[in-house]
Amino acid sequence: MSTPYTVNGADSEAGLQQFPDSEEGERRSNMQAWIEAEGYLRRAQRILAVTHLAPDGDAIGSLLAFGHAMQSLGKTVTVACQDPAHSRFDYLHGVHDIRLSGEGNFDLMVSIDASDLQRLGSIFLPVQHGRLPLVVFDHHITNTMFGSVNVVDSSASSSAEVIYRLLRRLDVRIGSEIAAALLTGIITDTLAFRTSSTTPETLSIAMELMRAGASMPEITRRALVLRSYDSIRFLANGIVTSQLEDGIVYATITRKMRKDLGVKEDRGDAGLVGTLITSMEAHVAAVFVELVDGSVEVGLRSAPGYDVSQVAFEFGGGGHAAAAGCTLPGPMRDTVNRVLSRLRRMIRET
Ligand code: AMP
Ligand code: MN
Ligand code: MN
Repeated sequence: MSTPYTVNGADSEAGLQQFPDSEEGERRSNMQAWIEAEGYLRRAQRILAVTHLAPDGDAIGSLLAFGHAMQSLGKTVTVACQDPAHSRFDYLHGVHDIRLSGEGNFDLMVSIDASDLQRLGSIFLPVQHGRLPLVVFDHHITNTMFGSVNVVDSSASSSAEVIYRLLRRLDVRIGSEIAAALLTGIITDTLAFRTSSTTPETLSIAMELMRAGASMPEITRRALVLRSYDSIRFLANGIVTSQLEDGIVYATITRKMRKDLGVKEDRGDAGLVGTLITSMEAHVAAVFVELVDGSVEVGLRSAPGYDVSQVAFEFGGGGHAAAAGCTLPGPMRDTVNRVLSRLRRMIRET
């Protein structure tokens, strides 16, 4: 079976056009996708499961839960990601088994929490993996439907919620290890049940996961609350140097700032954009982080009523209405100008 891999950017519009145009249509195509995905998983023997680069709690938690579940069904499964999991997730069983390479002999590839092929980064090997059927599980509204089968539920709070449903459909027993992994995904993507993506269903799944042995306070503390002292100083510096203009709060983090602060991580914003959007004056928050190669990682957040997913998508990235991101080639000043002017237009047109 061939896989309709599409390259984002070139035909990113086409990705969006694949969205069913009615809720009923979406429901039916999703039912079909679930059935096909289950078929692929039941037939597979050697599965490569991957998630997006610079993985967050939902990426790591959903990937590990999926891996444990497939193992319990007697499959050989390899879990992999371009970048290692942050040490804050060390409490998750199997986190050190996540490989940083996609090499190997597989009969199925599964992508979790990634909205397009580029998000997988170097873990996707076009020559080796291009021939494999690909099952996509995700919850990003900007998903480009890059799999052979796409189970994409943009109403789900997290990919962990999608994987929870998968495990229920496959009758996998959810023990404490799977429960902790899934609850990690839900808690990190909902900021502990505070985002508008949190539904009664989210809470009900979280309750089940607690009953299965996952500790809500411990996971919240380890996955969401604790940070290094360095990152607190980084955050403080970002807050102090931020600016508020036309309802947009934004900050730029250069390589020099990072070096002067002695920050070890070479990407990420330590939660800065999430802090800036708590400003009452902000419709939108943006953080621009200069990477080692000079490209600029852009993190976007919006207040209720504003949608940053489309803006991020237009710049080759993706995300959700309230939280999205993209990476542009730089330099910093051009990137800031381009993104701010697009955000101003989005605010005017909202
Ligand atoms: P972050 O600001 O990194 O927490 O990301 C917020 C949301 O935007 C998450 O749902 C990410 O998956 C998504 N996102 C961030 N960067 C990108 C990117 N370069 N491409 C696609 N989606 C992204
Ligand atoms: Mn994620
Ligand atoms: Mn997610």
